[in-house]
Amino acid sequence: MTSVHELIRDAAEREALGGDDPSGAPAAPHRRPIALRSTGASSCDPGLAEEPWRIDRRAGYGPGSSAADAIPGDAPRQGRLPARYTDASDDQLHEWIVAAKTRLGARVRILGHFYQRDEVVRYADFVGDSFMLAQAAKEHPETEAFVFCGVHFMAETADILSDPSQAVVLPNLAAGCSMADMATIEQVEDCWRQLTAVLGSEPGTDGRQPVIPVTYMNSSAAIKAFCGRNGGIVCTSSNARAVLEWAFARGQRVVFFPDQHLGRNTAKAMGLSEDEMPVWRPQAANGGNTETQLRAAKVILWNGFCSVHKRFTVEQIERARAEHPGARVIVHPECPAAVVEAADGAGSTDYIRKQIDAARPGDVIAVGTEINLVNRLQQEHPELTVFCLDPVVCPCSTMYRIHPAYLAWTLESLVAGETPNRITVAERIASESRIALERMLAARP
Ligand code: 13P
Ligand code: SF4
Repeated sequence: MTSVHELIRDAAEREALGGDDPSGAPAAPHRRPIALRSTGASSCDPGLAEEPWRIDRRAGYGPGSSAADAIPGDAPRQGRLPARYTDASDDQLHEWIVAAKTRLGARVRILGHFYQRDEVVRYADFVGDSFMLAQAAKEHPETEAFVFCGVHFMAETADILSDPSQAVVLPNLAAGCSMADMATIEQVEDCWRQLTAVLGSEPGTDGRQPVIPVTYMNSSAAIKAFCGRNGGIVCTSSNARAVLEWAFARGQRVVFFPDQHLGRNTAKAMGLSEDEMPVWRPQAANGGNTETQLRAAKVILWNGFCSVHKRFTVEQIERARAEHPGARVIVHPECPAAVVEAADGAGSTDYIRKQIDAARPGDVIAVGTEINLVNRLQQEHPELTVFCLDPVVCPCSTMYRIHPAYLAWTLESLVAGETPNRITVAERIASESRIALERMLAARP
């Protein structure tokens, strides 16, 4: 069983053996650029239309929405993809993927997140949000390996919930999540030490703990395990309110990692005010707050955010309504609070999908979430007008790292009896994470 760190080391060794350009310079222009599907909108960075192997080896998350986010030094990097795959035509890749999938049969299942590009989703055996895909991994004990077309924290969660004998494979190790990487376990433990010093660790007269840690699914397994061993819980965007209610039944306050927007939007919907929600900045003592502010807090918000969803604005909503009178606006709760408040509805990727499935012919729906999902919903519903609020198309540049070439390489490796890019969570971390995940399952409304 290979750990992520061994995989990183292997990739570094491949690089040392001359597999990659040590200067980090982009590869020579390729004859087969993958274009963003035409939407009538311009892309935030044309570099995203290139093959991901041209950006995987550079420092940072690559062009696109997450380009300005700092990539952690220990984030997995993908080794060089063999030329057989990078030089292949789309038709060849398709042929190889279908042939390998046929040979592997039910032994291998492909899980695809809603944000994956269509060229990948077409091969998925299950398509869903991060929670649905983790559940799919849990519910298919007959499967030997799951090929997870999503990002790193999702593959980790699938590994935690599936049987240890089942492998979870991430076709491109560079597919991380910049928001999840905004909270490291060291920072979270430091925050906890400081909070405990200010708030104490003994329950109050009502029996509730001073603070309960809650982490969004978009976080490392180490942070989920931290929550598991400290009386905390995991949430997704589909159950954040039920999870906060669970936490307030046991704690006087919550510290919420790593997405400040999901935490703030959920707490506001529960009637809490902004001044009860200080933001924790990990670089500053007490997160940049006074002890009085921390004692008065109800939800302490880690200052992470999603670079894709923070792009949505109230002005875009106003423009959509002006151009399409009667349009309904639906956004993901990773959007800033002003955007969620101005929208007609907010919810997880699956909520957005269900809202559009339930719309009536002729309805116009403006959506504030990742472009691949919005485009797919528009294609699936020609009787509706579905469009992205942001006229400048900005896909999640880490989700975009899964390309059919990586999928073909992964599947052909599995056919050859190898298990590339296996994501393995150490058993102690996995068992503590499972406690926090199972609390979430029990707290679901
Ligand atoms: P879901 O949990 O709705 O799949 O969302 C995951 C995500 O990364 C949204 O940006
Ligand atoms: Fe992470 Fe945002 Fe991409 Fe979701 S859309 S995987 S939160 S960077």
